[in-house]
Amino acid sequence: MRILITGGAGFIGSHLCDRLITDGHSVIVLDNLITGSTDNVSHLTDTKMFRFINQNVADYIELPKPVDAVMHFASPASPSQTAPNGYLQLPIQTLKAGALGTLNALGVAKRYGARFILASTSEVYGDPLVHPQNENYWGNVDPVGPRSVYDEAKRFAESLTMAYNRTHGVRTRIVRIFNTYGPRMALNDGRVVPNFICQALKGKPLTVYGDGSQTRSFCYVDDLVDGIILLMSSELTEPTNIGNPHEVTILEFANKINSLTKNAAGTILEDKRTTGDPQQRKPDISRAEKLLSWKPHITLEDGLTRTIAYFKNKLSDSM
Ligand code: UDP
Repeated sequence: MRILITGGAGFIGSHLCDRLITDGHSVIVLDNLITGSTDNVSHLTDTKMFRFINQNVADYIELPKPVDAVMHFASPASPSQTAPNGYLQLPIQTLKAGALGTLNALGVAKRYGARFILASTSEVYGDPLVHPQNENYWGNVDPVGPRSVYDEAKRFAESLTMAYNRTHGVRTRIVRIFNTYGPRMALNDGRVVPNFICQALKGKPLTVYGDGSQTRSFCYVDDLVDGIILLMSSELTEPTNIGNPHEVTILEFANKINSLTKNAAGTILEDKRTTGDPQQRKPDISRAEKLLSWKPHITLEDGLTRTIAYFKNKLSDSM
C-alpha cells in the first residue's frame, strides 16, 4: 500500500513509518516540523519506500500519486505551559491541525477511495467523571478552557470523520490514544515522561505538579503501534481506545523513574498544573481486546528502561 502519514516526523508518526515500511508499504510523510523533527525519520530517507513533504496539514494537500490509506497524526500534543512546542503556545495552529488539517486529510481519502484513520485522544474525555473511560463516555471538557484548543479540535475532528463516513462512505477509523511514551519524544516536549527522565538523568529532583495524586496510565509506543495497525486493518468505525490500563499516580511514577535511574535527588512539589489537568485517566480497553484481540504487553518497567536508554544517548549527544 501507499500510505500518507500526516505528522509522520513526530513521535508516534515516525514509529508508524518504521512499522509500515518494515511491513513492505511505502510511506509519504507530510509534516511542517513545528513539533516533529527530521531526526526521527533520517534513517528512512535513503529508502525508496519513503518520501517527505514539508507542508502544513492545514494547507490544501496535493499528492503526486494516489494513496491507499491516510493516517492523520499531525498536531501539537503536549499540554505543557512552558514548552515551546506545546499546544498552549500554539493554540491557533493546534485548532487548525484538528479542523482544517482533518478536513484536508479526509479530502485526500475521499478523492482516492483510501481508508482513513484519525489520531484522536483520551483528552476528548476531558477531566473525566467516569473511571475508567470507555468509548461511550461523552467526556467532561470546558469548551473555552485553555486545553480546549486541543480537546475541542480533536472532538471536532472525530465529528468530521464520522460525517465523512456517513455522508461520503469513507472507510474511517478513530483511535483514542492515551498517554504514550518511548524513544523520540522530544527532550523539550514538556510532558511528564521527558521531564522526569531528563531531570533524573541530570541528578535533579523530579518536578511533581500539584500533590502528585493525579493518575495516568502509560502505554509503550510499540504496543500502541500494534493497536493502531490492527485498528487500521479492521472494519471498526466506532472510536476505539488504545492505551495501557496500568494506572499509577504521578508521585508513584516519579519514584519509579528515580529508582530505575538510581537518582537520589527525590521529588519536588510544584504548583504548575494546567487548568483542566485531568485528576484521573485510565483506558477501558475492552473494545480493543474483544474486537481487535489487542492488549499491551510491555510493562512499565521494560518500557521505561528502553526510554531511559534513549534519553541517556540524546542527552550525551546534546552536551
Ligand atoms: N506533570 C508533572 N510534572 C511535570 C510534567 C507533568 O507532575 O514535569 C504532571 C501533569 O500535571 C499531569 C501529568 O503529569 O497531571 C501528565 O502530564 P503530561 O504533561 O505528560 O500530559 P497529560 O497526561 O496531562 O496530557
